[in-house]
Amino acid sequence: MHILVLNAGSSSIKFELFINKTPGDFKSITSGLADRLYLAESKIKIKIGERKVEFVKEMLDHSTALENVIRILVEQEKVIENTEQIKVVGHRIVHGGEKYASSVVIDDEVIAEIENCVQFAPLHNPANLKGIYASKKAFSSAIQVGVFDTAFHQTLPPHAYIYGIPYSYYKKYGVRRYGFHGTSHDFVSKAYAEMIGKPVSELNVITCHLGNGASVAAIKNGKSIDTSMGFTPLEGLMMGTRSGDLDPALVLWLVEKNNNDIDAVNRILNKESGFLGVTEETNDCKPIEDNYDKAEKCKLAMDIFSYRVKKYIGSYMAALGRVDCIIFTGGIGENSEMIREMSTDNMESFGVKLDTEKNIGRFKKSAIISTPDSNIQIAVIPTNEQLSIAQECAKLT
Ligand code: AMP
Repeated sequence: MHILVLNAGSSSIKFELFINKTPGDFKSITSGLADRLYLAESKIKIKIGERKVEFVKEMLDHSTALENVIRILVEQEKVIENTEQIKVVGHRIVHGGEKYASSVVIDDEVIAEIENCVQFAPLHNPANLKGIYASKKAFSSAIQVGVFDTAFHQTLPPHAYIYGIPYSYYKKYGVRRYGFHGTSHDFVSKAYAEMIGKPVSELNVITCHLGNGASVAAIKNGKSIDTSMGFTPLEGLMMGTRSGDLDPALVLWLVEKNNNDIDAVNRILNKESGFLGVTEETNDCKPIEDNYDKAEKCKLAMDIFSYRVKKYIGSYMAALGRVDCIIFTGGIGENSEMIREMSTDNMESFGVKLDTEKNIGRFKKSAIISTPDSNIQIAVIPTNEQLSIAQECAKLT
């Protein structure tokens, strides 16, 4: 069965096509990105095996981009014979609110609920909907599946998801912690269980998804019990351009004293903060790590980032009681030995001992990087959200 996974952003569509023959056997046959949509020089990049194909043309909406991807895959590259071959399309949906604790087949009711959640994810959900509409048009006979970033965290207990503000805001408007990156936290916790040969339901792990967006989750017996992102993906760790946790009164100060309107404050906290805000140069962790010893602000940014990861690890150790493993994933988690080391150093008295030799390098495959006598293991598990979405699609269909 051919399963297409789509991740639609406001001006892009990321895609990957899998063939699923038997349960558990997923082969990626092509992947790519259509971006700069709505601009004169929209671009499609497709990887087929080792080969790369590029196509540049003005594409003024998601549908046109998808039509061009299909034309390249069917007519030009003959990766598939026709659109009917694709039986299922899996969509990454950022916000599913409280309604969805697992993936669903998309029907009109689901679309209405995703629309209802636009209020919580005004940048992401409208883009995800564009992807769904484009896909329904292009693959009219395929089953469309929605996989929600928030779903995995629907197991949080109320004491972890209710904020200390008037309860009526939760009852009336659904103001609460939702958590994000659920597909990745779920995927790496299960991959770790598989790697050590134990059921995930018997394991307690702390998963650190560290990329341009970053979050930590406490997973007890396979279920998320707390996570650092909250009502929106702004809370928690410091990120590429997002501030993460701060004193809520600072938001008031930015508005009142510094004369910013709501849009300006939103821009400061979401787009101008984090690594970019502290270094005043870049949101990209790699050059910041490379300049740790050369530039004071790079050192400061790395120190802040890793200190906050460590604080979350510590608090989730307390929340979980017993921890089997601390898992690193995402672009930074998989590639930055410095961040992994700084986030776990000096924790021997808590039973966390990193093997600095094993920690060296970038990881394309899962590995244990703690010492054999570490009470709590430390692992790097490369995430694969596309594969995880394809697996969800197969499960549902
Ligand atoms: P993601 O959002 O998961 O794709 O992760 C992107 C982040 O990973 C960026 O901040 C990159 O700079 C960072 N990254 C990728 N490779 C490395 C590396 N070798 N060392 C440090 N950070 C890296």
